[in-house]
Amino acid sequence: MKCHPIPRMLSLLVIWLLTAGSISAQENNPTVFIHANLIPMTSEIVLPDQTVIVHGKKIIAVGPDNLTAMPQKARVIDCSSAYLMPGLADMHMHLRYNWMSDVWPVSPLKLYLANGVTTIRCFGPLGKPGRYGLTWRKEIDEGRLVGPNILTCGPQLRGHFKKDPENIVISQKYQQFDFLKIYSYVTRDEYYSIMSTAKKLKFYTAGHIPFQVGLDGVLAQGMDEIAHIEELLWEFSDFDRRRYFKREGEWMTYVIRQTFRQLEPYLELGPQDRDRRLDDMVAPVVRKLKGRDIPVCTTLVVDDVIVQKLFEQDLFLEKPEIKYMPNGYRERVLAGKEKHQRQFKGGEVFAPFKYALDKKLLIKFKKIGLPLLLSTDAGTGGMGIVPGFSLHDELEILVENGFTPYEAIAAGTTVASKVVARMNGQDNFGVILPGKRADLVLLKQNPLKDISNTRKISGVMAAGRWYDEETLDEFLEKQ
Ligand SMILES: [Zn+2]
Repeated sequence: MKCHPIPRMLSLLVIWLLTAGSISAQENNPTVFIHANLIPMTSEIVLPDQTVIVHGKKIIAVGPDNLTAMPQKARVIDCSSAYLMPGLADMHMHLRYNWMSDVWPVSPLKLYLANGVTTIRCFGPLGKPGRYGLTWRKEIDEGRLVGPNILTCGPQLRGHFKKDPENIVISQKYQQFDFLKIYSYVTRDEYYSIMSTAKKLKFYTAGHIPFQVGLDGVLAQGMDEIAHIEELLWEFSDFDRRRYFKREGEWMTYVIRQTFRQLEPYLELGPQDRDRRLDDMVAPVVRKLKGRDIPVCTTLVVDDVIVQKLFEQDLFLEKPEIKYMPNGYRERVLAGKEKHQRQFKGGEVFAPFKYALDKKLLIKFKKIGLPLLLSTDAGTGGMGIVPGFSLHDELEILVENGFTPYEAIAAGTTVASKVVARMNGQDNFGVILPGKRADLVLLKQNPLKDISNTRKISGVMAAGRWYDEETLDEFLEKQ
């Protein structure tokens, strides 16, 4: 895809020049939220009449209105009858270099903020290899670019390396990426080399379960994190793991075909029988993961969107947020050429079945206490998963499948921050406490009563910078 980064960069520069004064003023003077119904996410509580004081990028004080001294020259935000909670994290998404071009009607960085998402973790920057995610992070941190905090791996390790992957691992560590992303096509030998080098360097590893390696190999080598619940799907398929394909796409086609063929008998079962058989099917995988402290990204909205695209295309395209997808996306869906339309062609019936299987895994993984991370896989622009908006869909899917609203929000706040600490040593967001980064969302209604209330946003603070409702609405206007 052709990128046109310059116009967006120029307009951002102009915005920065116009607003630089106010940003620095904002950072010099404290901001005080008063009369808030506070959802600190330290436990399942709502504390009425609370004051939160922010200075610079951090929360410096939290306490009841009547006991918390107001600093001088503070900007005051009255939160009467509103709810203040920590900003959310999308723990598996993809940065794309064309975000800075007019291919996207609105920069996804702004879509995230407008949706209360103050941390994004990229599982493989797309569109141009290299360090642009780290550059964007620095620009956001310094107030030269508007967006959430970015955590990112380097270019994905997809296998078929021309030289020993050890050097790539060392290079990515040296470039200060936050973690390594391993993809499905890495061979067994490559995987061992990557993992042993990463361990020596104390470099956090996350990714797919490579086809040649399988879950047993992944657990034996101690990969730190699994990139999707759906990665476990391949464990239910008996395929030849010793195979080698020169072209990586052939691997995927082979595995999908084998898996669908073996799961076909399940399609004929009635709902109750199917449910029971799914219980039996997932049991060995659940047993292997029980007692392990290995985080898994949920990304169930992918399944949800696949089913919509295949079976309710009109409704899918009518969703208001679809207008934020990159140019040409709608046309691709209408022409039947969209990624999942092609991937499921002739096997459409497997999509709802796969979704049921992934939901089953979600429920079981929650039961055995795996750290589950709120995540969407948004950002590529090719799958119909809209950055920011989709995180609220994911929250709702978690609640529909047995999470309390508090547990669902924890997956994108406290659990997320603790997993980030494993990567970079900093557990600095996800709760409203002094010393944490000032990432906050002000909501009109209580999200612990109804998870869809996380969409009713009247303001967002990201690293101490406040965006009121009017500003967030402007973000959502097409540029
Ligand atoms: Zn992904």
